[in-house]
Amino acid sequence: MSRDLLGRALYDYVETPVFEHTELFARGVGESTDVVQKEMFTFEDKAGRSLTLRPEGTAAICRSYIEHGMHKRAQPVKVWYWGPFFRHEAPQAGRFRQFAQVGAEVLGSDEPTVDAELILLLSQLLEQSDCQEVRLRLSSLGTAETRRAYTAELRDWLREHEADLSESVRARLELNPLRAFDSDDPQTQAIMAEAPKLLDRLADEDAAHFAEVRSLLDDVGLEYEVDPGLVRGLDYYTRTVFEFESGVLGAQAALGGGGRYDGLVEVLGGPPTPGVGWAAGIERMLLATRQGTSRESAGRVFVAVAKPERRLEAFDMVLGLRDNEIPAELDEAGRSLKGQLKQADRLDALWTVILGEETELRDMRTGDQRAVEGFEGLLEAVRSE
Ligand code: AMP
Repeated sequence: MSRDLLGRALYDYVETPVFEHTELFARGVGESTDVVQKEMFTFEDKAGRSLTLRPEGTAAICRSYIEHGMHKRAQPVKVWYWGPFFRHEAPQAGRFRQFAQVGAEVLGSDEPTVDAELILLLSQLLEQSDCQEVRLRLSSLGTAETRRAYTAELRDWLREHEADLSESVRARLELNPLRAFDSDDPQTQAIMAEAPKLLDRLADEDAAHFAEVRSLLDDVGLEYEVDPGLVRGLDYYTRTVFEFESGVLGAQAALGGGGRYDGLVEVLGGPPTPGVGWAAGIERMLLATRQGTSRESAGRVFVAVAKPERRLEAFDMVLGLRDNEIPAELDEAGRSLKGQLKQADRLDALWTVILGEETELRDMRTGDQRAVEGFEGLLEAVRSE
């Protein structure tokens, strides 16, 4: 799906290694970020070099842009990627230590059309993937200088309200005061609603850039919410930032997001080069689809054996059901009949076939049980809904 969508927009597929020199992420993601401070899987190779399993994709794309002299090609350079990423986080629903991301990056253009194009591409990808209740939050962070001045202003303001802020926000007040907007502590949130906003401090050029991005999105009818508190986790963002969330995902609601990083290539040793991109989590996208949110197991059948001599029949029956596109499974752990019914429940089977003296079909929702005749009779019964 990504290949079709991004290929049509003339993005080239690229692959970078799953590990890089640690320094690339320390510089390219930012020393003050959670990712660099807490979440990297870092190890030494035999020569004593520090390597890190990639926690995100943008830094490596910028490294490869510089290393392969892509700034000498016709600009902008548009690429997309897909693959495994690693973060040392506490695993929970929708948050894993290894997860897959699809991402797209455009280097070498500061045109607002590029920001809008990327946002639209991610929106289309989420729509085509059938993600439910998708919302888009959008903001602008201005330039690094604006952000520095604003960060100092915000830090002073937070210090004045320090007593009312949560402990984790206070702990990060010096290093990364912007993260206070991300707090889920209600009292901190109330304070932050009153805090000065970066959007009100943008330089004229950046405000005009943001207005242009918005008008392009308005033009194609893409809905979004301007959220002045939107802070992306990585340090290098400038100007446009955005995040897509799904209302069906619970605490880990972010499907994907990104933004502009106009200073990053230079930070990594390349020529001054504007850049913008996004990454989306594949597992989160799957969890946000109708199928991912539903416990309805599309007619799943469990074949239970009550008489051991019918085991071969059970095996054939499962293969036959699967051939007829019906998801089916049998017991492969020597369970008693009671244990098999329990297993059928665990597998969310809608039906259990019980091979005993006769062949019976049990509706797992109601517990009703009735005899069925032959394989055709079984097929007809399980297809009746
Ligand atoms: P980020 O660069 O942190 O915004 O990550 C981009 C997307 O990757 C997020 O919106 C998530 O969908 C996904 N993602 C990030 N971290 C994880 C994780 N630990 N487990 C699963 N998905 C993740």
